Amino acid sequence: MTELGIYLDYNAGAPVREPVAEAMRSAALRAGNPSSVHRFGSLARRTVESAREQVAGLGGWAPEDVVFTSGGTEANNLAIHGAGRRTIFVSAVEHDSVLAPARRGGHDCHVVPVDGEGVADLAVLDAALDACGAPALVSIMLANNETGVIQPVAEVAAIAHRHGALFHCDAVQGPGKIPLDAARNADLVSLSAHKFGGPMGVGALIVRGAELVAQMTGGGQERRRRAGTENVPGIAGFGLAAELSRDDLAAADEIQSLRDDIEARLEGAGARVFGAGATRLGNTSCLSMPGVAAETQVMAFDLDGIAVSAGAACSSGKVGPSHVLAAMGIDPDEAATAIRLSLGRATEPAHIGKFVESWMALNRRAGPAATRGRNAA
Ligand code: PLP
Repeated sequence: MTELGIYLDYNAGAPVREPVAEAMRSAALRAGNPSSVHRFGSLARRTVESAREQVAGLGGWAPEDVVFTSGGTEANNLAIHGAGRRTIFVSAVEHDSVLAPARRGGHDCHVVPVDGEGVADLAVLDAALDACGAPALVSIMLANNETGVIQPVAEVAAIAHRHGALFHCDAVQGPGKIPLDAARNADLVSLSAHKFGGPMGVGALIVRGAELVAQMTGGGQERRRRAGTENVPGIAGFGLAAELSRDDLAAADEIQSLRDDIEARLEGAGARVFGAGATRLGNTSCLSMPGVAAETQVMAFDLDGIAVSAGAACSSGKVGPSHVLAAMGIDPDEAATAIRLSLGRATEPAHIGKFVESWMALNRRAGPAATRGRNAA
């Protein structure tokens, strides 16, 4: 609980941890560009390099595999444009920061369908790669930001590599929620600090075994893979958050039991949980309130001091039809009533009680009237 109320929107951005803010503050107050040779520069360089080791530790990567970026969106764009493959396979439920670059820049983009639970159809991917013949890039996420559905990315890596394709994994929603072991065989992995207690505006692309064409040029930083003076305070915070995210992993079961409790209570009252039949992140729930538009719900919960989001609100607060639920074959009217809850380290049982109470009250108030209204239309 903060002074603004109860925060259940961790997938959009988790609060910065106190020690992370302190590490950023001390880095911000020190003079020195990491590219400068004097001692001020060397200290800034050491800050960047020690954060690089901390971030690499998230997935057992080598520090030199880490390319710091301005966040997950830039990491995804860098992977898609920088991999140098014209033919790209993406799943239908990827984040827009994968879908948009994959569809642009002269790429030949193929969309791999998902089943009703939101899991990518690997038989389709396998057959399509077989038929394609061209050196391809496959981009499939570790876990979906809207539904929490986890993709079988270890299998995706094996299929992609069998066909000589590179595999990029958007793992932005993974750290602090699930171990990243499954993404270990990916050639390119995207990360974003603000999803797990680091600051906004910093992330990384892990580059293993892939030649990367820099998209930002005009400087030799990041081993010529991303030009521009490094965001030293942001990177310092990212590194520490990466290290501390192990504490979140240890608390993941507790968070999952709170999430499961919400789902059990709301399903009993008519909610439908999307992707419930798949393996999911334990903190995430995408669920409907029959007959009540998601925007109405988000505003009503906000009035009750509870922050949730409608669909993929992490991309610029937009509220529109969810391409994720559409790809899962959910009827558009039903999809329009889906909100996303995402819990995190400060979520307490009392918050869940308040949310469920608020949900039940809104469902009683608006549900039957909204359903009648729609049926009459
Ligand atoms: N990929 C996924 C799965 C996300 O949930 C997000 C969140 O917005 C991004 C990429 C973009 O990351 P960022 O906000 O750091 O640009």
